[in-house]
Amino acid sequence: MTLTIGPLRAEPGQKTRGTLPADLGTTTVDVPLILVNGSRPGPKIVITGGVHGGEFIPVDATTRLAGLLEPDEIAGRLVICPVANPPAVYGGRLNISPLDGVNINRVFPGDKDGGPTDRMAAWLFEHLIDGADAYVDLHSGGIDQHLLDFVGYRLTDDAELDAKNEAMAHAVGYERVIFGTSADGGNSHAAANRQGIPAILVETGQLGDRDPATVRRLIDALYRILHHLGAIEASDHIKQPTVQPRDWI
Ligand SMILES: [Zn+2]
Repeated sequence: MTLTIGPLRAEPGQKTRGTLPADLGTTTVDVPLILVNGSRPGPKIVITGGVHGGEFIPVDATTRLAGLLEPDEIAGRLVICPVANPPAVYGGRLNISPLDGVNINRVFPGDKDGGPTDRMAAWLFEHLIDGADAYVDLHSGGIDQHLLDFVGYRLTDDAELDAKNEAMAHAVGYERVIFGTSADGGNSHAAANRQGIPAILVETGQLGDRDPATVRRLIDALYRILHHLGAIEASDHIKQPTVQPRDWI
């Protein structure tokens, strides 16, 4: 099955790189994307980094993962977006967009007739996230933020979706798994859940860290998620976690 996003196309067995313009009303930004269309059928999985500025680990990890993954080892279609919110990332702003002062992770799924950040959120849902079988949003502690690695997911009113969220959260291999008791609010994973899409938030690293070992920790976690979702077979890439996940509310 061809993977198509706007004019970007990847046939089965192909990896395609490019950018797509997103019209934010007051300006247009280029969103970088890597499409990895596996040689075999499987789930459509979307991974975003760079939803917030100043969080470098997800940008580096998604970029490296996109280089490492080969279509021959993939079942399904992967959409990797290292910089999901270009104004905030390239503007070097923490949490908010320099265009309008809005934190995009409070306004998902956005509004395509709204301000720039609302439009950015709506663009990501319309072009990347809608129709996905699973969505993983990557964050880290910004330059001013101490943070321990954790995974976040939400409880919804759909038991089947809850089970998928929980299983995906545990597959990350981080000890701290924190669940919210409803899928309310403008966080990307909550908004995806409201559209029936299993989704988690993964936080890795802190204080604007770009340490390669921390990037590697996130890449290992992403391999485990892809394996859990059936997109990649167990291989030398899959490192078993050293800790047991524990759920916190
Ligand atoms: Zn963040």
